[in-house]
Amino acid sequence: MPKRFVIIGGGPAGNQAATYAARLGAEVTLIERDIVGGAAHLWDCIPSKAMIATGGALSQINSAPGMGITDVAASLDFDALRNRIGAIEEKLRSSVVGLLESQGVRMVPGSGRLVGPHQVVADTATGSEEFEADVILLSTGSRPRIPDWAPIDGQRVLTTRDAYPPEELPEHLVVVGSGVTGVEFVHMFSSFGCQVTLIVSRQQVLPQKDPEVAAALEEDFLRRGVRLYMGARAIGIDVDGDKVTVRCDDGRTAAGSHALLAIGSIPNSEGLGLDAAGVKTDGGYVVVDHNCLSSVPGIYAAGDLSGKLPLSSVAAMQGRKIAEHAMGLHAGPHRHLDYEKAASAIFTVPEIADVGLAEADAFASGRKIRVTKVPFSANAKALIENDPRGFVKIISDPATGVVLGGSIVGRHAAELISVIALAVTAGLRVTDIVESLLVHPALAEALADAAE
Ligand SMILES: Cc1cc2nc3c(=O)[nH]c(=O)nc-3n(C[C@H](O)[C@H](O)[C@H](O)COP(=O)(O)OP(=O)(O)OC[C@H]3O[C@@H](n4cnc5c(N)ncnc54)[C@H](O)[C@@H]3O)c2cc1C
Repeated sequence: MPKRFVIIGGGPAGNQAATYAARLGAEVTLIERDIVGGAAHLWDCIPSKAMIATGGALSQINSAPGMGITDVAASLDFDALRNRIGAIEEKLRSSVVGLLESQGVRMVPGSGRLVGPHQVVADTATGSEEFEADVILLSTGSRPRIPDWAPIDGQRVLTTRDAYPPEELPEHLVVVGSGVTGVEFVHMFSSFGCQVTLIVSRQQVLPQKDPEVAAALEEDFLRRGVRLYMGARAIGIDVDGDKVTVRCDDGRTAAGSHALLAIGSIPNSEGLGLDAAGVKTDGGYVVVDHNCLSSVPGIYAAGDLSGKLPLSSVAAMQGRKIAEHAMGLHAGPHRHLDYEKAASAIFTVPEIADVGLAEADAFASGRKIRVTKVPFSANAKALIENDPRGFVKIISDPATGVVLGGSIVGRHAAELISVIALAVTAGLRVTDIVESLLVHPALAEALADAAE
């Protein structure tokens, strides 16, 4: 009899696990209350990057004179943008659903919950259905954190989920939160021509990132006229007609037409029946081991709910590895689930991407490293494309030359980081990058130069 695999939540973690488990011979049921594809497709990665791409096209048109083109004019059509986002979501959703159907996965539209260590109930529009399971995956994701001082109304005071795009283009948007999501929204709305103010609770945007990388972004924001309130923590938001005022703990206030909150997320774990099944949690996140197994045998958790790295790419890899583990393909820890080696990107301009060991972390731990850095201003392709901002930085082991990490700031950083990510994962040396015969002219040549 095939293993019965029941998954609650059809985001990247859930749908990857479903596909792989079905391929490996399991009888898979996927319960999803919203859309298969998850928040990643509906609210997070896809619509935000679609909006950023539109802003990027607008900026490119406006920078046409620098490319020798004159008399170009462009304006933004919010209805067309809304339709564009809807069309992308629909294409992605139908391709994921098509793949799951082709693997024989049963999709149940409804809300799932545990009623025991091997039992799941789906509450659907037509009633409830109970499933017996040999393996259960909890992959219900997360949602924006809303503090009690923020009167979110979806009109003037927004979370990221109200912004794809909002009803009207904000005249002046005050963004609270300067992590990855916050800075992407600053970039997005400033490229649409909005005045933007960013409330930064620390002394640097992107507090978790290399200070040099953060400084490059701050410089660009200031050049574009973004106002930065450094070292200010938001404690309240007042709405008065069409005016919004964000109050900060140091007494400063930031007034605008709209405010957007990007201060992190909380796990979707309530109502999941975790107690009924005896699943241990920490701050609402399911506690998992290196195989993503919870405290209850046969119950796994993945994606944002697992409290590991909240990235779609990580969620998908966890889902795949869980399927393999549950179907008996792995006896030991998963080789690919080394969260320290996950590449990540920030889709601002300049684009930012990094992977592996960060320079600051190496210094903090006293580890000896070699740091090499080259600016894109010396790269032919960057000059041809009229955007020589940024740099490539590679961190390697001085004794062995093994690549330990790297950061890229500049055009196509999210694509270029793949080379360093591969080197970090495969334990390649800087000489492997230097001796690769690369295309000329290409931005990737800066990687070889930085690896020298
Ligand atoms: C604005 C924003 C932009 C982002 N951009 C990126 C990016 O560019 N790249 C990247 O890698 N990551 C990005 N992320 C992070 C990424 O979106 C998440 O890490 C990823 O979506 C997590 O995947 P998941 O499978 O855990 O859950 P989700 O994608 O959150 O999906 C969970 C699914 O579970 C369903 N669900 C919840 N509870 C139940 C229930 N009880 N029953 C049935 N179904 C249920 C939900 O409806 C949802 O469809 C971004 C996040 C945000 C907020």
